[in-house]
Parts: sequence; C-alpha cells; structure tokens
Amino acid sequence: MFKGKTALVTGSTSGIGLGIAQALAAEGANLVINGFGDVMEIERLRAQLAERHGVKVIYSPADMSKAASIQNMMALAAQELGGVDILVNNAGIQFVAPVEAFPPEKWDAIIAINLSSAFHTTRLALPHMKQKQWGRVINIASAHALVASPFKAAYVAAKHGIAGLTKTVALEVAEQGITVNAVCPGYVLTPLVEKQIPDTAKARGISEEAVRRDVLLASQPTKQFVTVEQVAGLTLFLCTETAASITGAVLPIEGGWTAH
Ligand code: NAD
Repeated sequence: MFKGKTALVTGSTSGIGLGIAQALAAEGANLVINGFGDVMEIERLRAQLAERHGVKVIYSPADMSKAASIQNMMALAAQELGGVDILVNNAGIQFVAPVEAFPPEKWDAIIAINLSSAFHTTRLALPHMKQKQWGRVINIASAHALVASPFKAAYVAAKHGIAGLTKTVALEVAEQGITVNAVCPGYVLTPLVEKQIPDTAKARGISEEAVRRDVLLASQPTKQFVTVEQVAGLTLFLCTETAASITGAVLPIEGGWTAH
C-alpha cells in the first residue's frame, strides 16, 4: 500500500511506536525508526524489519528532547530515504505526581518530548510533503488530549497542546494533499503504563492491583486495555486515500472513556 513512501516513527523501539513501525513496513513503507534502548537489540530489530518486509530501514538515535538532534534525524531521513512522507510523532514519556510536588525538570522533559518534538519534526517534514503534494502527519496523543486525570499535569498539558498543534497545522496545509490528525488511545499495556502503576499507587495510597482495576480500567467502559495493533490499525487507515478527507481530527480510541 505504501511502497516507495518513507515513514518516520519517533519512539519506535518499544510499545505503540514499534507496533506502528511494523504495520507500516508490512505495507511496504521504507522506515526511519527512532528511540532509546540496547544498541544490539535495536540493530536486530532494524535488520529484522528490513528483511521480513523487503523495505529499507534506518535507525536514528536522536533525542526528541533536543531540537538539534531532531534536525539531524530529519536530515538523515532526507539523505538516506529522500524525505519523510508519513510522519508519526509517537515518542512520549510520563511522570505522575501532585502538581506542587512535580519536579520542574520532569515538566520540561515531558513538554519537550511529548509536545515540542512534534513541532520540530513537523516543521522540518512539511517542505518535502508540500513538494510532493502528499503527506500524512499522525500525532499519537492520548485520551488525555481530551480529558484530564489528577497527578499528570505535564502529560495532560502536553497532550492537549498536541491537539491544538494538530488542528492548526491541518488548516495550514489542507489544500496541499497533506492531512494532520491526532490519535488518542486510552490505556495500552506498554512499558510506559507499566512504569506508572507503582507511582500512581504511591500518589493515591492504594495497591498496584487497585490501580489497574480502579484507576486505569475504571476510565474505560469496555473494561479492556486498548491494544497496540488497534492503534497501529487506525494509524495505517489515516495514511490511506480513503482517509484523505479526515484532517485536523482528534480521534479517540479509548474504549468509550471520553464518552463519559
Ligand atoms: P513506551 O515507553 O513503550 O515507548 C516510548 C518510546 O519513546 C520508546 O521507544 C522510547 O525509547 C521513546 N523515547 C522516550 N524518550 C525519548 C526521547 N527523548 N527521544 C527519543 N525517543 C524517546 O510508551 P508507549 O506506551 O508505546 O507510548 C507511545 C506514545 O503513545 C506516547 O506518546 C504516549 O504518550 C502515547 N500513549 C500511550 C498510552 C498507553 O496507555 N500506553 C495511551 C495513550 C497515549
């Protein structure tokens, strides 16, 4: 479906980003993968994606908290794969604490990685997309782009910011064959969620089991975690021609959470 196109997925060494990268490669897109992790493990992943799907895959170790590093990644994509046609802004981190105890450096890191990185990748990807008169920008936001939860001030602020960035850029490029959308998952059992369970338990003074049952799944009327495959499937659909009229949308995929 995407043969000859290049997709860049930030934070694709784990969780949702990895699932999206796999789905795009399976449809023939060349890939730039990015994210942290064990160097050998990432190289194994890169080679496996390339071999299994017969596509070119390069890895950028760029740190999404640093504008200069993002600039290097975008230059690498242009040099090696001719520019980014499908941009998936997925890298993200979380930190859970009451606002008055929220470490300022954690606030800065979350705003940089979860929000500002998407501004930088988008501004650097658009010239190529405009030249091609085709492009897809998909921002992996969150149900927290639409509603808040206590103790997640930075994350909720960043994700609401991503919704605003999505709508603004969508309007700016609407006549140029480029769509810009945000995908808003509910809870998906990835390392990001696993890691916040003990902190949430501490912040609320309850057990980890109670966090899963009474905090995480309590928000989702389906009482099911969203799966990586479901988020990848929606992302893939937004890249198709069938989805060409969907732009500036902030799309929930959260088991009914925000219908409350
Ligand atoms: P994850 O922790 O499994 O993966 C995060 C990825 O981002 C990893 O590849 C990591 O190396 C990368 N990353 C982190 N900091 C980085 C940095 N500074 N520079 C480059 N890469 C960096 O998390 P996930 O659950 O797959 O989350 C992916 C996205 O989905 C995030 O934006 C998250 O907010 C969003 N999301 C997740 C859930 C969920 O329940 N898991 C729900 C809604 C939204």
